[in-house]
Amino acid sequence: MRVPILTYHAANVAGSEYPQNDHVALQVDLALFSRLGWRVVPMDWAIDELLGLGRRDLQRCLVLSCDDGTDLDFRSIDYPRLGRQPGFLSCLRRAVAAPGNPQPELHMTSFVIADPSARAMMDRECLHDLGWMNEDWWPEAERSGLMSIQCHSWDHNHPNLRDTGPEGMARGDFFVVNSEARASHEVDQAINYINERVRPSSVRYFGYPYGHAPEYLVREYFPRHGQRLGLRAAFGTQGEPVTAGSDIWNLPRYVCGWHWKSPDELESLLAALA
Ligand SMILES: [Zn+2]
Repeated sequence: MRVPILTYHAANVAGSEYPQNDHVALQVDLALFSRLGWRVVPMDWAIDELLGLGRRDLQRCLVLSCDDGTDLDFRSIDYPRLGRQPGFLSCLRRAVAAPGNPQPELHMTSFVIADPSARAMMDRECLHDLGWMNEDWWPEAERSGLMSIQCHSWDHNHPNLRDTGPEGMARGDFFVVNSEARASHEVDQAINYINERVRPSSVRYFGYPYGHAPEYLVREYFPRHGQRLGLRAAFGTQGEPVTAGSDIWNLPRYVCGWHWKSPDELESLLAALA
C-alpha cells in the first residue's frame, strides 16, 4: 500500500496561476489524475485498508484533503482584486460532471477549525474581514457526498490568539499540546462542537495544525482516547505516502505549494509511487 494524501488550502489565493492559487491547482490536478489513470478515493478507503478492514485495490489511488475550513472550501467567492474563485466543492462538482466521469469515487476531506471566536479573529486578521470562516456550510458539504468535515483542532493554537491556552500554553505552535488539559481543550471540545453541527455524521479524523504532531498526542492521548472520541486516525504533513507501516496517529500528507509547486512536480511525485 502506497497511497498519497494530497492537501490543499482554499485560502491560498495570491494570484491566478497554479503556484499562487490552490483553486487553479486543484482543477489542474484533478484533470491530471484522470489523464494519468489515478483514482481519487475517500479517506475512509485508505484508513479501512490500514486498519485491516478493507479489501479494495488501492493501486494508483490517492486521497484529497484541505485544511483550515474557510468558506472557500465550499462556496465561490469574489476575491479582492483577483475575482471569482470557484471554491473547492465546485471544482469537485465540475470534475464529476466531466464526460464519462473519470472520478466516480471523488471525495475530499475538509479539516475545519471549531472555535467560532477564533475563526472570527482569523477572518478579521488573516483574511479580508469579509466573513469567510463560517460553519453554516458544514452539514451541506457533508450532504454533497463529495466532501466530509473533520477536525483541525479547537483554535489552531493560532499565534494571534490574545490569551494563553490551558496551563499557560504558548500560542503559535501545536507541539505544545502535551498534557491532558491541553488535549482536552484542542481536541475533545473541538470534536464535540463539530459533531453537534454535522449530525448524523461525526468526526473520524484529526489534522494536526501546522502539521505539528505532538509526541504526547501521537503516543499517549490518541492511543488511549481515540476510540472514545470516535477518531480513526490523525494526519501530519510529512510528504510521504501512507503505507502499511505508517503510524495511524501521524499519517503523512503532501501539501500543495510545499511538496509540489507545479503539475510537473506532482506528476513526478505520483510516478515515483505508481
Ligand atoms: Zn491549518
